[in-house]
Amino acid sequence: MVTGGAGFLGSHLCERLLRDGHDVLSVDNYFTGRRENIAHLLGNTRFEAMRHDITFPLYVEVDEIYNLACPASPIHYQFDPVQTTKTSVVGAINVLGIARRVKAKVFQASTSEVYGDPTVHPQTEDYRGNVNPIGPRACYDEGKRCAETLFFDYHRQHKLRIKVVRIFNTYGPRMHPNDGRVVSNFIVQALLGDEISLYGTGAQTRAFCYVDDLIDGFIRMMDTGDEVTGPINLGNPVELTVRELAEQVIRLTGSRSRIIYQPLPADDPQQRRPDISLAAATLGWQPSVALEQGLTRTIAYFDKLLRETGRAVITNVAI
Ligand code: NAD
Ligand code: UDP
Repeated sequence: MVTGGAGFLGSHLCERLLRDGHDVLSVDNYFTGRRENIAHLLGNTRFEAMRHDITFPLYVEVDEIYNLACPASPIHYQFDPVQTTKTSVVGAINVLGIARRVKAKVFQASTSEVYGDPTVHPQTEDYRGNVNPIGPRACYDEGKRCAETLFFDYHRQHKLRIKVVRIFNTYGPRMHPNDGRVVSNFIVQALLGDEISLYGTGAQTRAFCYVDDLIDGFIRMMDTGDEVTGPINLGNPVELTVRELAEQVIRLTGSRSRIIYQPLPADDPQQRRPDISLAAATLGWQPSVALEQGLTRTIAYFDKLLRETGRAVITNVAI
C-alpha cells in the first residue's frame, strides 16, 4: 500500500513497485495528487487505486506500507493547517494501526523540515532541529515530528517493523505545476516567459534530489533488515543558492524571463543540505542524477504539459 499514491513521489513509487513485481494499492484523497499521475497504471491488474482520506480508519490486508499521504508544498500544507496536522498525526496512527493488525512493515516519508531552520550544517540524523512550534510551517514540521514519535513508540511498544526516512527537497516530472515549490515554480515561469519569483535575496540554500534517485533510496530502505529503523536522511548533498537555481533554470530553458524579488516567507530555512553518510553506509545509496540532467528531464515534462494544456493547468487547481 502506498498512501499518497497519486501524488508526485507516490506515483513514481507505485510505478517502481509494479515494475518490481508487487501488487500495489494506492490510497489517496486527491487533495494535491492528480488522477493523471496514475492514469497510465490503471490498466495494470496488479494496481488498484482507492479514494480515501487517511485521517479516517481503513481496513485493508497488505504486507508493506509506504506512508506518503501529506501535502508537501508550503502553499498546500498551509491552506488548511489543521487538516495537515491531522493527516500527519491521525494519518500515522491509522497507518500504524493497520501495520500492527496485519503485521506489515511500515515506511514513513518524513522530512528535512524536522530540522527546521537548522543551526547545524550539513544536517545529520542526530541533530534535533530548530523548529518554531507556533509558526506557519509548524503544522507540517511538528506534524511530521509527531509522526516520527508515533512510529518509534509503535516500534518500542508493539515491536512494529518501521522504516523512517527524512526526505530533502526532491523534484522531477509530475510535481504539481502550481504547487508553489521552487523547482516547479521556476520552470513553469521560465517556460511561460513570466517573471521568476525569487523570495528574499535568493541567498538561502537548498540541495535538490532527482525523483528516481530518491525512489531507489525508498526501495533500499524497505528492503533492509528489521534492525534498521532509521531515521535516515535521503537527499542530494550538492548545495546551491536559490538564486543559482533560478539562473540555471533560465539558462536550461533558454528563457527571457527576468528575476523579481519577493518577500521571504516566515521561518524559511536559510540553509539546508543533507549529510547522507548514514544512507551510504546502511543502504549503499547515493544519488546519481546531476542537477542539470534532472532539471533537463523536468523541463521536458513541464514543456509538454504546458503545450498540451496551456496556462490553464496552473490556474485550474483544486485549491
Ligand atoms: P504531493 O502533494 O504530490 O503528494 C502527497 C499526496 O498525499 C497527494 O497525492 C495528496 O492528495 C495525498 N494526501 C494528502 N492528504 C491526504 C489524506 N488526508 N489522505 C489521503 N491522501 C492524502 O507531495 P510529494 O512531494 O509527493 O510528497 C509525498 C510525501 O513525501 C509527503 O509525505 C511529503 O511530506 C514527503 N516529502 C516530500 C518532499 C519533496 O521534496 N517532494 C520532501 C520531504 C518530504
Ligand atoms: N522559493 C523562491 N521562489 C519561489 C518558491 C520558493 O525563491 O517561487 C524559495 C523559498 O523561499 C525557499 C526555497 O525556494 O527558500 C525552497 O522552497 P520550496 O517551497 O520549494 O521548499 P522548502 O525547502 O522551503 O520547503
